[in-house]
Amino acid sequence: MYSKETNCVHNRQQHQGVNTPVYTSTANRYRGYDEILYPRNYNTENQLAIVDKLCKLEQGEAGMIFSSGTAAIATALFSFLKAGDHVLFSQDIYGGTMKLVVEEFPKYNIAFDFVPHAAMGNIEQMVKENTKLIYTETPSNPLLAIVDLEAIGAIARRKGLLTVVDNTFATPINQNPIPLGIDMVVHSGTKYLGGHHDLCFGAVITSHKLKDVIYQSALNYGGSLNGLDCYLIERSLKTLALRVEKQNASAMKLAEVLQVHEQVQKVYYPGLRQHPNHAVAARQMKGGFGGMLSFELKNPMQTEQFLDKLELIVPALSLGGVDSTICQPATSSHASLTEQERLEQGITNGMLRLSVGIEHVDDLARDLTAALE
Ligand SMILES: *Cc1c(COP(=O)(O)O)cnc(C)c1O
Repeated sequence: MYSKETNCVHNRQQHQGVNTPVYTSTANRYRGYDEILYPRNYNTENQLAIVDKLCKLEQGEAGMIFSSGTAAIATALFSFLKAGDHVLFSQDIYGGTMKLVVEEFPKYNIAFDFVPHAAMGNIEQMVKENTKLIYTETPSNPLLAIVDLEAIGAIARRKGLLTVVDNTFATPINQNPIPLGIDMVVHSGTKYLGGHHDLCFGAVITSHKLKDVIYQSALNYGGSLNGLDCYLIERSLKTLALRVEKQNASAMKLAEVLQVHEQVQKVYYPGLRQHPNHAVAARQMKGGFGGMLSFELKNPMQTEQFLDKLELIVPALSLGGVDSTICQPATSSHASLTEQERLEQGITNGMLRLSVGIEHVDDLARDLTAALE
């Protein structure tokens, strides 16, 4: 067993190259071959090289990659759900996942409930006769709330439920849900795994047994990825540990700077001792607390002015790349909710979500404090 840093760099080698040659053929000879090679069979060497790396990083037996995080999530969910089933989701999940559930599940008569993060500890009481699966995200978006994965895994095993964790925010460098008892890990690779704001992909990592089920549905849904994107992902993954370690350290420092700033009302970062679930985060985020943090301005009226004053940090959606980006959830990722719904979840108008890049942390701190003044 090698360390994560090493597994980021090295690949399974079935060819002479240090990197996997890009294989783009969609028509492949079949006579004399056991397996039909085809991108939508998820079996090209470029796809498998990435899956192999992600399995090692997440400590899973098997996995698949898809053309987006959403394709990975939708395929994983619909592989196991059928009409009449019920699913429990933690409330503070990625907006696109919530949209998928709210808009698509009713068409197939699949029921669901959203559980506030604060109530995740009591989720057992919300399990129904027909509950099939628990889906959660930790740290959550944009409040960086923490769910105790070991506890969720234990409840699910007791009740015979499947568990899915979206590990996008944490990255496999910081957190591995599978050894904590979670069945399936999903990623929007568009974020940290890709890491350069220039490609879109998703992944599911799980056991051989569950992967075989997902695979059969994935053939039908067809959300496969092409060889050229795979080549970029393979390159990106080589620096994943380096990038994330830097982002962890810088986010921690910036959280500390913001926390004592007089224009800042509150900072949300699981690495801070003041975070209500810091102890759980410290237990399950072994590599670090991640590169995402949120904060609230004292004067929410000045949020847009603040964004305009930033010179370095880019007001942009998406996250997890080498460039630091920032957004106001109330007018972007959570704009489809009413103000009342947002406030119920704790998302104020003055809240900003910062994705810390790999620039020098002093430059980032100066940019933030200059704009706050
Ligand atoms: C972006 C994101 C997704 C969706 O991924 P896409 O690659 O955009 O489809 C899912 N979960 C989280 C936490 C995300 O940040």
